[in-house]
Amino acid sequence: MTKYDVIIIGAGAAGLAAAAAAVSRARRVAIIDMGESPARKVAISGGGRCNFTNAAAAANRYFGKNPDFVRSAISRITPYDILAWAQHHNIKWVEKSSGQYFAANGADSIVNALINDAHGTDFIMNAPVSDVKYNDGKFFIKTMRGEFCAKSVIVATGGVSFPAVGVSDIGYKIAKQFGHKIIPVRPALCAIKTNIFPDDLAGISFDAEIKIGNEVIRDSMLITHFGIGGPAVYRATVRNLDDVHINIIPDADIYETLRKAKTTNGRRSISTILSEYIPTRIAKWICNEQKNIADYKDSELRAISGKATNIVIPKCEIKLHSMQSAEVVRGGVDTDMISSKTMESKLQPGLFFAGEVLDIAGDLGGFNLHWAWASGRIAGENA
Ligand SMILES: Cc1cc2nc3c(=O)[nH]c(=O)nc-3n(C[C@H](O)[C@H](O)[C@H](O)COP(=O)(O)OP(=O)(O)OC[C@H]3O[C@@H](n4cnc5c(N)ncnc54)[C@H](O)[C@@H]3O)c2cc1C
Repeated sequence: MTKYDVIIIGAGAAGLAAAAAAVSRARRVAIIDMGESPARKVAISGGGRCNFTNAAAAANRYFGKNPDFVRSAISRITPYDILAWAQHHNIKWVEKSSGQYFAANGADSIVNALINDAHGTDFIMNAPVSDVKYNDGKFFIKTMRGEFCAKSVIVATGGVSFPAVGVSDIGYKIAKQFGHKIIPVRPALCAIKTNIFPDDLAGISFDAEIKIGNEVIRDSMLITHFGIGGPAVYRATVRNLDDVHINIIPDADIYETLRKAKTTNGRRSISTILSEYIPTRIAKWICNEQKNIADYKDSELRAISGKATNIVIPKCEIKLHSMQSAEVVRGGVDTDMISSKTMESKLQPGLFFAGEVLDIAGDLGGFNLHWAWASGRIAGENA
C-alpha cells in the first residue's frame, strides 16, 4: 500500500490549492478524485470565464451557522493575494462590476495554473473514495482503485449541487464518522420556482431590489418559464430564507409619479408611464389598464404601485429550483469543531476540511472560489 504524508480527497478548487501548499512544504502528497480530470467545477465556473475572486471578500459575504469562521482564512489570504497568484501565472483578468475578477482567457487558464502549482502531487483519478478509517496514527482511504494510507487527510469533496460534474456526499459521511455534526444541505445560488409572473413574460430581465430578512440586494433579475432567476434571485437564495419582497422599480417613488401624472397629464396611460422604468410587457401586466390615468382613484394607483414595488413571496412558499442547477449548497460540515486557523478537526487530529464541504456558502461574485482557495491553502499549510 502506497503511503503518503498527506492525502487530499477531492481535486477541486480547495483540494488543488491544498496540494500546492502541501507539496511546497516537501510533503509526500496524493490527491484522489472520483472524476476523470481535476477542477471540473472550476472549468465551468462563471460561464466558463471563472469569477475567481472578489475584492469585497469579507465575512459579511458568507453564510452558514457561523459566517465569522471565514475571518481568519480570508484575512490571511486576501483577494489581492489571489490576484498576485494569477499575475505570477500570467493569467489575464477582467474586472466586472467593481471588484469581481474573471479570467479573461477562460477558466482553463486557472485550471492549468492550479495543476502546475500542485506539481509533485500524485493524482489518483477515477477513484471514488468509499471509506476512511483511522488506526494507529494513520488514515486508510478506501477507493475503487485500491487503498491508500496517510498521516493526514484533507477532505475537500465540495458540495452536492450541480451533480452533472460528479459530486458525492462522502465528505459529510467522513465528518460524521469522526463525530462532526452536519448542517442539513439545500440548494443555494439558484432560481426560485413561482407563478407570480405569467408565462408570457418569460425571458424579460430588469434591475430589481430584493429584500430578504435584513438584507437588501440590488441586481438584475430574470423572469423564466418556471419562476424567477438572475443574479438578484441567486443572491437571495444564499441568504437565510425569509419572506422575499421584490421591487421592480427601485429608483422611483412610483405612487407619487402616478399621482402627479394624474393631475398634470390625465390622458396618459399608466403603462406608458411605467414603461419609462420597466419593459413595456411588464408595465402592461402590472396595470392591466382599461382607462386613462385621470380616471383612477388614488387607492387604485396605490395598489398598482404596490404591485410593482412590493411583490411578495412568503418564506413558506419559497421553492428553490433544484440541486441540479444550484451553484452551491447551504449547509455542510458544522464549523463548530473545526479550527478556523488551520482547518483541522478539533475531534480528530490529522483530519482537515476545506472548501464547500464545510457549512460556508459565499455570495455570487467569486466569493465561493475565494473561500476554496483560502481554506484549501491553509489546510495544505498545516496538514
Ligand atoms: C455552474 C457553476 C458555476 C460556478 N461559478 C462560480 C464562479 O464563477 N465563482 C465562484 O466563486 N464560484 C462559482 N461556483 C461555485 C464554485 O465552483 C464552488 O464553490 C467551488 O468549486 C467549491 O470548491 P471545492 O474544492 O470545495 O469543491 P469542488 O470544486 O466541487 O471539488 C470537489 C471535488 O471532490 C471530488 N469528490 C467528491 N466526492 C468524491 C469521492 N467520493 N471520491 C473522490 N472524489 C470525490 C469531486 O469529483 C470534485 O472534483 C460555481 C458553481 C457552479 C456549479
